[in-house]
Amino acid sequence: MSEFDENAAFEGASLSARAMAARPQPYLEGLNPAQREAVETMDGPVLMLAGAGTGKTRALTARIVHLLNTGRARPNEVLAVTFTNKAAREMKNRVGAMLGQSADGMRWLGTFHAICVKLLRRHAELVGLKSNFTILDTDDQLRLLKQLVAAEGIDDKRWPARMLSGIIDDWKNRALTPDKIPAADAGAYNHLGPQIYAAYQKRLVELNCCDFGDLLLHMVTIFQTHEDVLAQYQRWFKYILVDEYQDTNVAQYLWLRLLAAGHKNICCVGDDDQSIYGWRGAEVGNILRFEKDFPGSHVVRLEQNYRSTPHILAAAAGVISANEGRLGKTLWTQAEEGEKLRLIGHWDGEEEARWIGDEIEAMQRGTRGNARVSLDHMAILVRASHQMRAFEDRFLTIGLPYRVIGGPRFYERLEIRDSMAYFRVVTSPDDDLAFERIVNTPKRGLGDVAQRKIRATAQEHGTNMVEGARILLAHDGIGGKGAAQLRLLIEGIDRWSGMLRGPRIEVNDDSVVDTGGPIRIEYGPPEVSHVELAEMILDESGYTGHWQNDKTPEAPGRLENVKELVKALEQFENLQGFLEHVSLIMDNEKDGEGEKVSIMTLHAAKGLEFPAVFLPGWEDGLFPSQRSMDESGLKGLEEERRLAYVGITRAEELCTISFAANRFVFGQWQNAMPSRFIDELPEAHVDVLTPPGLYGGGFGAAMPKSTLHDQAAEANVYNSPGWRRLQARAGTRGVSQPSEAKNMTIDMTATSSFSMGERVFHQKFGYGAIIGIEGEKLEVAFEKAGDKKVVARFLTAADDAAS
Ligand code: ATP
Ligand code: MG
Repeated sequence: MSEFDENAAFEGASLSARAMAARPQPYLEGLNPAQREAVETMDGPVLMLAGAGTGKTRALTARIVHLLNTGRARPNEVLAVTFTNKAAREMKNRVGAMLGQSADGMRWLGTFHAICVKLLRRHAELVGLKSNFTILDTDDQLRLLKQLVAAEGIDDKRWPARMLSGIIDDWKNRALTPDKIPAADAGAYNHLGPQIYAAYQKRLVELNCCDFGDLLLHMVTIFQTHEDVLAQYQRWFKYILVDEYQDTNVAQYLWLRLLAAGHKNICCVGDDDQSIYGWRGAEVGNILRFEKDFPGSHVVRLEQNYRSTPHILAAAAGVISANEGRLGKTLWTQAEEGEKLRLIGHWDGEEEARWIGDEIEAMQRGTRGNARVSLDHMAILVRASHQMRAFEDRFLTIGLPYRVIGGPRFYERLEIRDSMAYFRVVTSPDDDLAFERIVNTPKRGLGDVAQRKIRATAQEHGTNMVEGARILLAHDGIGGKGAAQLRLLIEGIDRWSGMLRGPRIEVNDDSVVDTGGPIRIEYGPPEVSHVELAEMILDESGYTGHWQNDKTPEAPGRLENVKELVKALEQFENLQGFLEHVSLIMDNEKDGEGEKVSIMTLHAAKGLEFPAVFLPGWEDGLFPSQRSMDESGLKGLEEERRLAYVGITRAEELCTISFAANRFVFGQWQNAMPSRFIDELPEAHVDVLTPPGLYGGGFGAAMPKSTLHDQAAEANVYNSPGWRRLQARAGTRGVSQPSEAKNMTIDMTATSSFSMGERVFHQKFGYGAIIGIEGEKLEVAFEKAGDKKVVARFLTAADDAAS
């Protein structure tokens, strides 16, 4: 749109809007014509349906800036939905940078869940909750379901809690409340499913809790049943923007449709080839149906890829072309050819982790050429989170700094969950699940029998367990050591809740009639900060002491974690804000100083990009995952293939795929075949590497000689223009100087305890004699396996082995 048109569009608009529109728009520069079209078509529905790395997210971000810059909307009138909290943070930062001012006013930029929790706090009473409701995690959800199954006298072998929670989640993803379960579904679950679902929902409300799925489900219900509330938000959110639209489920889709139904100013972006959440209820049909849902929508297709080299793009295209029923897109790039994908087979998962660790170190040190590649620019993307363990172990051993994104999180640890349960009881005494978790932690002589009594009393009086306990104590309904301990705990909870609220003040106020009298109760400001309070709760309850007295090796670590938790509280205004944050984070927030390699699942890598990407574990059964093929057949396989496409397209310059011939999974060794996706890679874009001799005897020995590179050829790869560009790219991104590189390698100066000629034993290679020593690396002439280089700690003296 030319400047003249821009003004025409604003004819009749307020002076401020016109003045805003006249401001410079540097953020539009550099966008290609299709992207500009997506940014500047501001009225009505817009769909950007395009392949990976074509600048969808970038255009979406520019669109937000354009809306703000032209005065079309104020920051808090834009509803922008991203897939992860990390993506939301990044988008907010980028908007700020493009605007040249803080984007903090964008209160409605976040994930579906983060946005819905804010909305639900405002309207909780419409679904029977109080605004201070707690969000349950999976553990609590399962505990609750177990109780319900027991209470209803249902066979928990046939109806395990885990299965029920899966069924209920699935219904919630489809926006189905208990009264709306289709007959076929109900029949499939013997009509018991819907019955337990209904009981579960009822119990959640009593506990003033909701689970993750409820955040959306409740808001959809509220919008559907309260026209006034919906109308208010339809007016309020003037523009709606959604990234990764291909992964929305039915509930999210309905929620968006309801909100956009008025002005229809909705812009969705996505890629059908990157739909990878079918297993969690995502419907790729949502994006394919957009034009039908929003007639007259403006569809923008982007074809130029700005992220990856032609080899990477061609390899990704080759793999995804095996899927059927795609829209099909052609991507092109102006980037130079770059490196082919690298493919390497290893003996086992440990060796794969070792090799990748060595590669990363070499790239970081710059031994693969002249310049260093920052660890921040390298990522390992795994199919299953259990694959991470090998990398974490290896990197910890060699001191290679790494971060796990979206993995098992700090907040999932036992001691952290216990501590948070204490905070939950204090902020919301109705939260019985939290109370149950802490009532006998540390041990207070309040075992199952006592807990059952408390629960029964609470139910009898229609109140929560804290009150139940109080009543029970008043009637001497509980005996022994437990009674005194329980009294202490309840007194503690009262005291801490009191401190949380601040002192009670009675105000004489004749003008207030709705409190039923002239006296109004208010609470003064809390006397202690929430951080002090948290510490106090953990100390006075005996929880800290419990770990101090614990003599197991983990105890000190656990205490450290609890300390860390209290420290984390400082960044929040109050306990409730903190608890909310924790229930929402999906990303590992703990980013310490310094550069780090990222490890994450392929699912968590969506939308991200890295100069160098490692894709380990390409073995049939692991990737594609056997479970998803067993459960969903061809559909499952196609989703796995899209995951492969997502993985490859995360790479900008260098993509390394690997597999192992043996893998230790769930406690046993499994022989593995290379993934079928490997054979779908177009050969012309792939280099096959030789596994290094150091760990010899590996899978490489079984590979056809003709496809193997010799060491010299491999060395050449690292001097090629592609590598230099990778390093240059890393350089322009502000790579720091080598930091303590010495700590990050096997210490070559350390001497091993072995001597020349000594007879040794190796798990894999058997008996042999040492013929060379180079620090920790030893050369051994094995009787059966021949000469090999091995690391000292994998050897034992032969005499030891025999005994
Ligand atoms: P994905 O499908 O993986 O989510 P995407 O389509 O959202 O990818 P972006 O992440 O927005 O793609 O962009 C990919 C890369 O290309 C980013 O580094 C981005 O800055 C860059 N890019 C996007 N548009 C342009 C452009 N017009 N000129 C130069 N670089 C661009
Ligand atoms: Mg994107």
